[in-house]
Amino acid sequence: MNKQLAFDQKHIWHPYTSLIHPLPVYPVTSASGVRLKLEDGRELIDGMSSWWACIHGYNHPVLNEAVQQQLKKMSHVMFGGLTHEPAIELSKLLVDLTPGPLETVFLCDSGSISVEVAIKMAIQYWFSKGVTAKQKLLTIRSGYHGDSFGAMSVCDPITGMHEIFSHMLPSHFFADAPSCGFDDPWDPSDLESMKNLLEDNHQVIAAVILEPVVQGAGGMRFYSPHYLAGVRNLCDHYNVLLIADEIATGFGRTGSLFACEKAAISPDIMCLGKALTGGYMTLAATLATNKVSHQISSGHPGVFMHGPTFMANPLACSVAIANIHLLVNSAWETKIFAIENQLKQELSPLSTSSKVADVRVLGAIGVVEMKEPVNMEKIQKQFVSCGVWLRPFGRLIYTMPPYIIDTEDLFRLTSAIKDIIFS
Ligand SMILES: *Cc1c(COP(=O)(O)O)cnc(C)c1O
Repeated sequence: MNKQLAFDQKHIWHPYTSLIHPLPVYPVTSASGVRLKLEDGRELIDGMSSWWACIHGYNHPVLNEAVQQQLKKMSHVMFGGLTHEPAIELSKLLVDLTPGPLETVFLCDSGSISVEVAIKMAIQYWFSKGVTAKQKLLTIRSGYHGDSFGAMSVCDPITGMHEIFSHMLPSHFFADAPSCGFDDPWDPSDLESMKNLLEDNHQVIAAVILEPVVQGAGGMRFYSPHYLAGVRNLCDHYNVLLIADEIATGFGRTGSLFACEKAAISPDIMCLGKALTGGYMTLAATLATNKVSHQISSGHPGVFMHGPTFMANPLACSVAIANIHLLVNSAWETKIFAIENQLKQELSPLSTSSKVADVRVLGAIGVVEMKEPVNMEKIQKQFVSCGVWLRPFGRLIYTMPPYIIDTEDLFRLTSAIKDIIFS
Protein backbone atom coordinates (compact mmCIF):
# COMPACT_ATOMS: atom_id res chain seq x y z
CA MET A 1 0.00 0.00 0.00
CA ASN A 2 2.84 2.39 0.68
CA LYS A 3 3.68 2.34 -3.02
CA GLN A 4 0.06 2.96 -3.90
CA LEU A 5 -0.17 5.80 -1.43
CA ALA A 6 2.96 7.30 -2.90
CA PHE A 7 1.31 7.17 -6.33
CA ASP A 8 -1.83 8.77 -4.92
CA GLN A 9 0.12 11.65 -3.43
CA LYS A 10 2.11 12.26 -6.61
CA HIS A 11 -0.58 11.81 -9.25
CA ILE A 12 -4.10 12.21 -7.90
CA TRP A 13 -5.90 15.41 -7.02
CA HIS A 14 -8.07 15.27 -3.92
CA PRO A 15 -10.57 18.05 -3.23
CA TYR A 16 -8.83 21.37 -2.68
CA THR A 17 -5.33 19.94 -2.34
CA SER A 18 -1.79 20.48 -3.58
CA LEU A 19 0.23 17.94 -5.52
CA ILE A 20 3.45 19.40 -4.18
CA HIS A 21 2.49 19.53 -0.51
CA PRO A 22 -0.18 16.83 -0.33
CA LEU A 23 -1.94 16.25 2.97
CA PRO A 24 -2.08 12.69 4.27
CA VAL A 25 -4.98 10.58 2.98
CA TYR A 26 -6.28 7.48 4.71
CA PRO A 27 -7.02 4.41 2.58
CA VAL A 28 -10.52 3.03 3.22
CA THR A 29 -11.19 -0.59 2.27
CA SER A 30 -14.85 -0.92 3.23
CA ALA A 31 -17.62 0.80 5.14
CA SER A 32 -20.68 -0.46 6.93
CA GLY A 33 -23.30 1.28 9.05
CA VAL A 34 -21.56 4.35 10.53
CA ARG A 35 -18.09 2.79 10.38
CA LEU A 36 -15.32 3.29 7.86
CA LYS A 37 -12.71 0.55 7.84
CA LEU A 38 -9.16 1.65 7.14
CA GLU A 39 -6.62 -0.47 5.40
CA ASP A 40 -4.60 -0.91 8.59
CA GLY A 41 -7.63 -2.49 10.26
CA ARG A 42 -8.72 0.54 12.29
CA GLU A 43 -12.37 1.53 12.29
CA LEU A 44 -13.58 5.11 12.34
CA ILE A 45 -17.03 6.37 13.34
CA ASP A 46 -18.20 8.57 10.50
CA GLY A 47 -19.27 12.04 11.60
CA MET A 48 -19.46 13.46 8.07
CA SER A 49 -21.94 11.22 6.19
CA SER A 50 -19.45 11.60 3.32
CA TRP A 51 -20.36 15.28 2.95
CA TRP A 52 -24.03 15.16 3.98
CA ALA A 53 -24.88 12.27 1.66
CA CYS A 54 -24.85 8.87 3.44
CA ILE A 55 -27.86 9.50 5.66
CA HIS A 56 -28.61 5.78 6.21
CA GLY A 57 -24.95 4.81 6.62
CA TYR A 58 -22.85 2.60 4.37
CA ASN A 59 -23.48 -0.77 2.78
CA HIS A 60 -27.19 -0.67 3.56
CA PRO A 61 -28.93 -3.91 2.52
CA VAL A 62 -32.00 -2.14 1.10
CA LEU A 63 -29.93 0.28 -0.98
CA ASN A 64 -27.58 -2.49 -2.11
CA GLU A 65 -30.57 -4.50 -3.24
CA ALA A 66 -32.01 -1.56 -5.20
CA VAL A 67 -28.76 -1.17 -7.14
CA GLN A 68 -28.48 -4.90 -7.78
CA GLN A 69 -32.05 -5.24 -9.03
CA GLN A 70 -31.65 -2.32 -11.41
CA LEU A 71 -28.25 -3.58 -12.59
CA LYS A 72 -29.94 -6.72 -13.91
CA LYS A 73 -32.26 -4.61 -16.05
CA MET A 74 -29.98 -1.82 -17.31
CA SER A 75 -27.40 0.40 -15.68
CA HIS A 76 -27.83 3.24 -18.12
CA VAL A 77 -29.73 4.38 -21.15
CA MET A 78 -29.84 7.78 -22.83
CA PHE A 79 -32.72 10.06 -21.76
CA GLY A 80 -33.19 11.82 -25.08
CA GLY A 81 -36.25 10.26 -26.70
CA LEU A 82 -36.31 7.42 -24.13
CA THR A 83 -37.65 7.18 -20.60
CA HIS A 84 -37.77 4.58 -17.82
CA GLU A 85 -39.60 3.66 -14.68
CA PRO A 86 -36.85 4.65 -12.19
CA ALA A 87 -36.87 8.24 -13.51
CA ILE A 88 -40.66 8.40 -13.46
CA GLU A 89 -41.01 6.88 -9.98
CA LEU A 90 -38.30 9.13 -8.55
CA SER A 91 -39.79 12.25 -10.11
CA LYS A 92 -43.22 11.36 -8.71
CA LEU A 93 -41.71 11.06 -5.24
CA LEU A 94 -39.89 14.38 -5.55
CA VAL A 95 -42.99 16.19 -6.80
CA ASP A 96 -45.01 14.68 -3.93
CA LEU A 97 -42.54 15.45 -1.15
CA THR A 98 -41.39 18.94 -2.07
CA PRO A 99 -43.61 22.02 -1.53
CA GLY A 100 -46.79 21.90 -3.63
CA PRO A 101 -46.09 24.28 -6.51
CA LEU A 102 -42.89 22.44 -7.54
CA GLU A 103 -44.19 20.08 -10.21
CA THR A 104 -41.47 19.53 -12.80
CA VAL A 105 -38.16 17.74 -12.43
CA PHE A 106 -34.83 17.92 -14.25
CA LEU A 107 -32.52 15.05 -13.24
CA CYS A 108 -28.79 15.64 -13.60
CA ASP A 109 -25.41 14.45 -12.41
CA SER A 110 -24.27 16.54 -9.47
CA GLY A 111 -25.20 19.36 -7.17
CA SER A 112 -23.18 21.95 -9.04
CA ILE A 113 -24.88 21.00 -12.30
CA SER A 114 -28.32 21.23 -10.71
CA VAL A 115 -27.39 24.80 -9.73
CA GLU A 116 -26.28 25.54 -13.31
CA VAL A 117 -29.61 24.15 -14.49
CA ALA A 118 -31.51 26.30 -11.98
CA ILE A 119 -29.67 29.44 -13.12
CA LYS A 120 -30.31 28.64 -16.77
CA MET A 121 -33.99 28.02 -16.02
CA ALA A 122 -34.34 31.38 -14.29
CA ILE A 123 -32.69 33.25 -17.15
CA GLN A 124 -34.58 31.31 -19.83
CA TYR A 125 -37.85 32.00 -18.00
CA TRP A 126 -37.41 35.76 -18.44
CA PHE A 127 -35.90 35.44 -21.92
CA SER A 128 -38.91 33.48 -23.15
CA LYS A 129 -41.13 36.30 -21.89
CA GLY A 130 -39.08 38.72 -23.96
CA VAL A 131 -37.41 40.17 -20.86
CA THR A 132 -33.78 39.96 -21.96
CA ALA A 133 -32.43 42.37 -19.34
CA LYS A 134 -32.94 39.96 -16.45
CA GLN A 135 -29.66 38.00 -16.58
CA LYS A 136 -28.19 38.73 -13.14
CA LEU A 137 -28.50 36.85 -9.89
CA LEU A 138 -28.73 38.12 -6.34
CA THR A 139 -27.44 36.01 -3.46
CA ILE A 140 -26.20 36.36 0.10
CA ARG A 141 -22.62 36.39 1.32
CA SER A 142 -21.16 33.28 3.02
CA GLY A 143 -23.04 31.04 0.58
CA TYR A 144 -21.83 27.95 -1.25
CA HIS A 145 -23.46 26.57 -4.39
CA GLY A 146 -20.79 24.42 -6.05
CA ASP A 147 -17.53 24.60 -7.98
CA SER A 148 -18.58 25.01 -11.61
CA PHE A 149 -18.48 28.52 -13.09
CA GLY A 150 -22.13 29.47 -12.78
CA ALA A 151 -22.37 28.03 -9.28
CA MET A 152 -19.04 29.54 -8.25
CA SER A 153 -20.19 32.98 -9.38
CA VAL A 154 -22.78 32.96 -6.56
CA CYS A 155 -20.48 31.49 -3.88
CA ASP A 156 -19.11 33.88 -1.28
CA PRO A 157 -16.63 36.07 -3.20
CA ILE A 158 -13.90 35.71 -0.55
CA THR A 159 -14.08 32.03 0.42
CA GLY A 160 -15.03 31.23 -3.20
CA MET A 161 -11.76 32.86 -4.35
CA HIS A 162 -13.41 34.95 -7.03
CA GLU A 163 -10.23 36.94 -7.60
CA ILE A 164 -8.55 33.99 -9.38
CA PHE A 165 -11.27 33.82 -12.02
CA SER A 166 -12.33 37.44 -12.02
CA HIS A 167 -12.32 37.80 -15.83
CA MET A 168 -14.24 34.58 -16.36
CA LEU A 169 -16.94 34.91 -13.73
CA PRO A 170 -20.15 36.79 -14.36
CA SER A 171 -20.56 39.42 -11.65
CA HIS A 172 -23.70 39.16 -9.58
CA PHE A 173 -25.18 41.00 -6.60
CA PHE A 174 -24.32 40.05 -3.02
CA ALA A 175 -26.48 41.01 -0.05
CA ASP A 176 -25.08 40.93 3.48
CA ALA A 177 -25.45 37.50 5.06
CA PRO A 178 -28.32 37.45 7.57
CA SER A 179 -27.13 38.12 11.10
CA CYS A 180 -30.16 36.81 13.03
CA GLY A 181 -29.35 33.26 14.08
CA PHE A 182 -31.93 30.51 13.78
CA ASP A 183 -33.49 31.08 17.23
CA ASP A 184 -32.65 34.77 17.62
CA PRO A 185 -35.46 37.29 18.00
CA TRP A 186 -36.26 38.49 14.49
CA ASP A 187 -34.91 41.89 13.50
CA PRO A 188 -36.47 43.04 10.20
CA SER A 189 -33.47 45.28 9.50
CA ASP A 190 -31.65 42.06 8.64
CA LEU A 191 -33.42 42.23 5.27
CA GLU A 192 -32.31 45.79 4.53
CA SER A 193 -29.35 44.90 2.31
CA MET A 194 -31.40 42.39 0.26
CA LYS A 195 -34.26 44.87 -0.07
CA ASN A 196 -32.02 47.73 -1.22
CA LEU A 197 -30.31 45.60 -3.85
CA LEU A 198 -33.68 44.46 -5.18
CA GLU A 199 -35.09 47.96 -5.14
CA ASP A 200 -32.16 49.32 -7.15
CA ASN A 201 -31.56 46.39 -9.53
CA HIS A 202 -34.68 44.25 -9.91
CA GLN A 203 -34.91 45.14 -13.60
CA VAL A 204 -31.76 43.16 -14.30
CA ILE A 205 -32.18 40.40 -11.69
CA ALA A 206 -33.57 37.05 -12.86
CA ALA A 207 -33.52 35.32 -9.49
CA VAL A 208 -32.38 35.32 -5.90
CA ILE A 209 -30.45 32.14 -5.11
CA LEU A 210 -29.74 31.05 -1.55
CA GLU A 211 -29.37 28.10 0.78
CA PRO A 212 -32.50 28.09 2.95
CA VAL A 213 -31.83 28.50 6.71
CA VAL A 214 -28.45 26.69 6.74
CA GLN A 215 -25.45 28.07 4.86
CA GLY A 216 -23.24 24.99 4.60
CA ALA A 217 -19.76 24.95 3.12
CA GLY A 218 -19.61 28.77 3.15
CA GLY A 219 -19.46 28.88 6.96
CA MET A 220 -22.01 26.53 8.58
CA ARG A 221 -24.27 29.42 9.56
CA PHE A 222 -27.91 28.97 10.63
CA TYR A 223 -30.19 31.94 10.03
CA SER A 224 -33.72 32.93 10.95
CA PRO A 225 -36.59 31.44 8.95
CA HIS A 226 -38.11 34.96 9.11
CA TYR A 227 -35.31 36.06 6.82
CA LEU A 228 -36.22 33.37 4.29
CA ALA A 229 -39.90 34.27 4.48
CA GLY A 230 -38.93 37.93 4.01
CA VAL A 231 -36.86 37.13 0.91
CA ARG A 232 -39.81 35.21 -0.57
CA ASN A 233 -42.02 38.29 -0.09
CA LEU A 234 -39.44 40.61 -1.58
CA CYS A 235 -39.02 38.34 -4.62
CA ASP A 236 -42.77 38.43 -5.21
CA HIS A 237 -42.88 42.18 -4.74
CA TYR A 238 -40.01 42.88 -7.14
CA ASN A 239 -40.92 40.21 -9.70
CA VAL A 240 -37.79 38.11 -9.23
CA LEU A 241 -37.67 34.28 -9.04
CA LEU A 242 -36.46 32.49 -5.92
CA ILE A 243 -34.06 29.53 -6.21
CA ALA A 244 -33.66 27.47 -3.01
CA ASP A 245 -30.48 25.41 -3.00
CA GLU A 246 -31.50 22.51 -0.72
CA ILE A 247 -28.58 20.34 -1.80
CA ALA A 248 -27.18 20.20 1.76
CA THR A 249 -30.39 20.76 3.73
CA GLY A 250 -32.78 18.48 1.82
CA PHE A 251 -34.03 15.13 3.12
CA GLY A 252 -34.34 15.85 6.81
CA ARG A 253 -30.94 17.18 7.81
CA THR A 254 -32.33 20.26 9.59
CA GLY A 255 -35.22 18.39 11.21
CA SER A 256 -37.66 19.32 8.43
CA LEU A 257 -37.79 17.30 5.23
CA PHE A 258 -36.79 20.50 3.39
CA ALA A 259 -35.48 23.63 5.10
CA CYS A 260 -37.96 25.81 3.16
CA GLU A 261 -40.67 24.27 5.34
CA LYS A 262 -39.25 26.09 8.36
CA ALA A 263 -40.42 29.35 6.80
CA ALA A 264 -43.49 27.74 5.19
CA ILE A 265 -42.38 29.04 1.80
CA SER A 266 -42.11 27.52 -1.61
CA PRO A 267 -39.37 28.57 -4.04
CA ASP A 268 -39.87 28.84 -7.80
CA ILE A 269 -36.92 26.52 -8.37
CA MET A 270 -35.33 24.04 -5.95
CA CYS A 271 -32.01 22.17 -6.19
CA LEU A 272 -31.55 18.76 -4.58
CA GLY A 273 -28.46 16.55 -4.42
CA LYS A 274 -26.13 15.13 -1.78
CA ALA A 275 -28.50 12.89 0.28
CA LEU A 276 -30.73 12.20 -2.74
CA THR A 277 -29.26 8.71 -3.32
CA GLY A 278 -28.21 8.13 0.30
CA GLY A 279 -24.64 8.68 -0.85
CA TYR A 280 -24.65 5.73 -3.25
CA MET A 281 -24.42 7.40 -6.64
CA THR A 282 -23.98 10.88 -7.98
CA LEU A 283 -27.39 12.36 -8.83
CA ALA A 284 -29.12 15.70 -8.42
CA ALA A 285 -32.43 17.25 -9.35
CA THR A 286 -33.74 20.70 -10.17
CA LEU A 287 -37.44 21.13 -9.54
CA ALA A 288 -39.50 24.03 -10.84
CA THR A 289 -43.06 25.27 -10.75
CA ASN A 290 -45.34 24.91 -13.75
CA LYS A 291 -45.22 28.69 -14.02
CA VAL A 292 -41.49 28.49 -14.76
CA SER A 293 -41.49 25.29 -16.84
CA HIS A 294 -44.49 26.21 -18.97
CA GLN A 295 -43.15 29.67 -19.68
CA ILE A 296 -39.79 28.24 -20.79
CA SER A 297 -41.63 25.72 -22.96
CA SER A 298 -43.87 28.25 -24.65
CA GLY A 299 -41.59 31.15 -25.53
CA HIS A 300 -38.57 31.18 -27.80
CA PRO A 301 -36.71 28.75 -28.26
CA GLY A 302 -39.50 26.71 -26.66
CA VAL A 303 -37.24 24.05 -25.16
CA PHE A 304 -35.05 24.07 -22.08
CA MET A 305 -31.45 24.21 -23.24
CA HIS A 306 -29.74 21.49 -21.20
CA GLY A 307 -29.23 17.72 -21.50
CA PRO A 308 -26.30 15.90 -19.93
CA THR A 309 -25.13 12.49 -21.19
CA PHE A 310 -25.90 10.72 -17.93
CA MET A 311 -29.16 12.52 -17.28
CA ALA A 312 -31.54 10.46 -15.08
CA ASN A 313 -29.13 7.52 -14.81
CA PRO A 314 -31.37 4.54 -13.94
CA LEU A 315 -29.02 3.02 -11.35
CA ALA A 316 -28.86 6.33 -9.52
CA CYS A 317 -32.63 6.89 -9.80
CA SER A 318 -33.33 3.40 -8.44
CA VAL A 319 -31.17 3.85 -5.39
CA ALA A 320 -32.64 7.33 -4.85
CA ILE A 321 -36.15 5.83 -4.77
CA ALA A 322 -35.09 3.20 -2.22
CA ASN A 323 -33.29 5.87 -0.19
CA ILE A 324 -36.33 8.15 -0.05
CA HIS A 325 -38.66 5.27 0.89
CA LEU A 326 -36.27 4.26 3.67
CA LEU A 327 -36.31 7.82 4.96
CA VAL A 328 -40.00 8.63 4.84
CA ASN A 329 -41.02 5.22 6.17
CA SER A 330 -38.71 5.58 9.19
CA ALA A 331 -39.28 7.65 12.31
CA TRP A 332 -36.79 10.14 10.90
CA GLU A 333 -38.18 13.20 12.70
CA THR A 334 -37.87 11.53 16.11
CA LYS A 335 -34.39 10.36 15.22
CA ILE A 336 -33.15 13.78 14.06
CA PHE A 337 -34.72 15.38 17.12
CA ALA A 338 -32.84 12.92 19.36
CA ILE A 339 -29.56 13.63 17.54
CA GLU A 340 -30.22 17.37 17.88
CA ASN A 341 -30.84 17.09 21.62
CA GLN A 342 -27.76 14.99 22.20
CA LEU A 343 -25.57 17.30 20.13
CA LYS A 344 -26.89 20.30 22.09
CA GLN A 345 -26.28 18.61 25.41
CA GLU A 346 -22.80 17.40 24.62
CA LEU A 347 -21.46 20.28 22.50
CA SER A 348 -22.92 23.29 24.34
CA PRO A 349 -20.50 22.98 27.32
CA LEU A 350 -17.63 23.53 24.87
CA SER A 351 -18.55 27.21 24.64
CA THR A 352 -16.82 27.66 28.03
CA SER A 353 -13.46 27.13 26.31
CA SER A 354 -11.59 30.34 25.59
CA LYS A 355 -10.72 28.88 22.17
CA VAL A 356 -14.36 28.57 21.13
CA ALA A 357 -16.27 31.44 19.49
CA ASP A 358 -19.66 29.76 19.13
CA VAL A 359 -21.44 26.43 19.41
CA ARG A 360 -24.60 25.85 17.36
CA VAL A 361 -26.80 22.89 16.64
CA LEU A 362 -29.72 22.48 14.24
CA GLY A 363 -31.24 19.11 13.42
CA ALA A 364 -28.46 16.62 12.78
CA ILE A 365 -25.82 19.35 12.35
CA GLY A 366 -23.46 20.28 15.18
CA VAL A 367 -20.96 23.10 14.74
CA VAL A 368 -18.17 24.35 16.98
CA GLU A 369 -16.75 27.59 15.63
CA MET A 370 -13.25 28.26 16.93
CA LYS A 371 -11.72 31.71 17.33
CA GLU A 372 -8.68 30.73 15.25
CA PRO A 373 -8.39 28.54 12.14
CA VAL A 374 -7.67 24.93 13.04
CA ASN A 375 -4.54 23.11 11.94
CA MET A 376 -6.34 20.63 9.76
CA GLU A 377 -3.48 18.19 9.24
CA LYS A 378 -2.77 17.92 12.95
CA ILE A 379 -6.39 17.78 14.06
CA GLN A 380 -7.30 15.22 11.39
CA LYS A 381 -4.59 12.91 12.73
CA GLN A 382 -5.86 13.38 16.28
CA PHE A 383 -9.43 12.55 15.28
CA VAL A 384 -8.31 9.42 13.46
CA SER A 385 -6.35 8.28 16.50
CA CYS A 386 -9.55 8.83 18.56
CA GLY A 387 -11.37 6.50 16.15
CA VAL A 388 -13.61 9.12 14.52
CA TRP A 389 -13.85 10.65 11.07
CA LEU A 390 -14.39 14.40 11.22
CA ARG A 391 -13.00 16.89 8.74
CA PRO A 392 -12.86 20.45 10.00
CA PHE A 393 -12.27 23.44 7.74
CA GLY A 394 -11.25 27.01 8.49
CA ARG A 395 -12.38 27.81 12.02
CA LEU A 396 -15.08 25.14 11.99
CA ILE A 397 -15.18 21.75 13.65
CA TYR A 398 -18.50 20.18 12.80
CA THR A 399 -20.45 16.98 12.41
CA MET A 400 -23.47 15.87 10.41
CA PRO A 401 -23.58 12.16 11.15
CA PRO A 402 -25.64 9.49 9.37
CA TYR A 403 -29.18 9.51 10.82
CA ILE A 404 -28.75 5.88 11.91
CA ILE A 405 -26.00 6.71 14.41
CA ASP A 406 -26.73 5.46 17.94
CA THR A 407 -26.29 7.37 21.21
CA GLU A 408 -23.00 5.71 22.05
CA ASP A 409 -21.32 6.38 18.70
CA LEU A 410 -22.57 9.96 18.66
CA PHE A 411 -21.12 10.36 22.15
CA ARG A 412 -17.77 9.18 20.82
CA LEU A 413 -17.92 11.86 18.13
CA THR A 414 -18.74 14.68 20.54
CA SER A 415 -16.18 13.39 23.07
CA ALA A 416 -13.48 13.44 20.40
CA ILE A 417 -14.36 17.07 19.62
CA LYS A 418 -14.35 17.92 23.32
CA ASP A 419 -10.99 16.20 23.91
CA ILE A 420 -9.39 18.10 21.06
CA ILE A 421 -10.71 21.44 22.23
CA PHE A 422 -9.67 20.95 25.83
CA SER A 423 -6.33 19.28 25.00
C1 LIG B 1 -22.37 20.47 -1.99
C2 LIG B 1 -23.22 21.59 -2.41
C3 LIG B 1 -23.34 21.95 -3.77
C4 LIG B 1 -22.52 21.28 -4.85
O1 LIG B 1 -22.83 19.94 -5.03
P1 LIG B 1 -21.78 18.97 -5.77
O2 LIG B 1 -22.49 17.66 -5.84
O3 LIG B 1 -20.56 18.94 -4.90
O4 LIG B 1 -21.51 19.55 -7.11
C5 LIG B 1 -24.19 22.98 -4.08
N1 LIG B 1 -24.91 23.63 -3.14
C6 LIG B 1 -24.83 23.30 -1.84
C7 LIG B 1 -25.67 24.03 -0.84
C8 LIG B 1 -23.98 22.28 -1.41
O5 LIG B 1 -23.88 21.99 -0.12
